[in-house]
Amino acid sequence: MNDSSQSIRAWRVFGALALAALVSCQSAPITHRPQLMIMDGGTELALGNEVYQDMISQAIVVKDARLNRLIMTVGRRVAAATGRGDMGWEFTLVDKEAPNAYCLPGGKVVINSGILPIAQNEAGLAAVIAHEAGHAIARHGAERGSHARVRDLGLELVNMGLGHTLAEKTKMRLAWGVDFVMSLAFPFSRTHELEADEMGLVYMARAGYDPREALEFWERMVEYGYDEKKTLLEFLSTHPADKTRLRKIRLLIPKVMKEYDKTDKLGMGGQIL
Ligand SMILES: [Zn+2]
Repeated sequence: MNDSSQSIRAWRVFGALALAALVSCQSAPITHRPQLMIMDGGTELALGNEVYQDMISQAIVVKDARLNRLIMTVGRRVAAATGRGDMGWEFTLVDKEAPNAYCLPGGKVVINSGILPIAQNEAGLAAVIAHEAGHAIARHGAERGSHARVRDLGLELVNMGLGHTLAEKTKMRLAWGVDFVMSLAFPFSRTHELEADEMGLVYMARAGYDPREALEFWERMVEYGYDEKKTLLEFLSTHPADKTRLRKIRLLIPKVMKEYDKTDKLGMGGQIL
């Protein structure tokens, strides 16, 4: 590559970064946390649909009519409470032992049957669905993708702009530096998990489910041993340690009880199993 085409490329990358900075003025609902977001909604939705179809085609979908009705009822109540009726909400229960659930962009929710005994009642299930809905509504996946793109562009700029003057070793160190600063400035998993908890509490309370049941649910998860191995690695783990999570949820309860008090109060709802 000659000098002029290299500098044109460098300016293009610089332009893309500047554009990223310009269009990044977005914030998550409920928490109002500013977000860097350069992935467009269309791309995010297409990716989400693809993953959702993949997940369902590779899993055994539970046929039990009563359980499916229950998932639909709780799911629709939570979805309505998010104020995002425009999202194409879908709820699928799959036969899988690991206690987990996912919500892909666009409101495509996959619930593993293994989480039902821990959810115990409708409010526990609402806590799970509302937490997952929080991830999707705050576009956490797209935010992660946006950061990765900006990081790549930054590295490319380091590489091109300083390509002639720096030794490979120094460039490598700079690249690590970019990654390091990004990871310090945006410790995603922790932030995203706690944000989804906060949003979820508000949504489940607005749906009429007692938000205190979310705390009960997470306490049962701790008992079950979820994240047990990761507690020592709190800083690095993809989920915040459970003690932190429980403490934060406990702190949020008085605020969300006000939302709950405005509803017809479904309490913990019916038992699941
Ligand atoms: Zn989560």
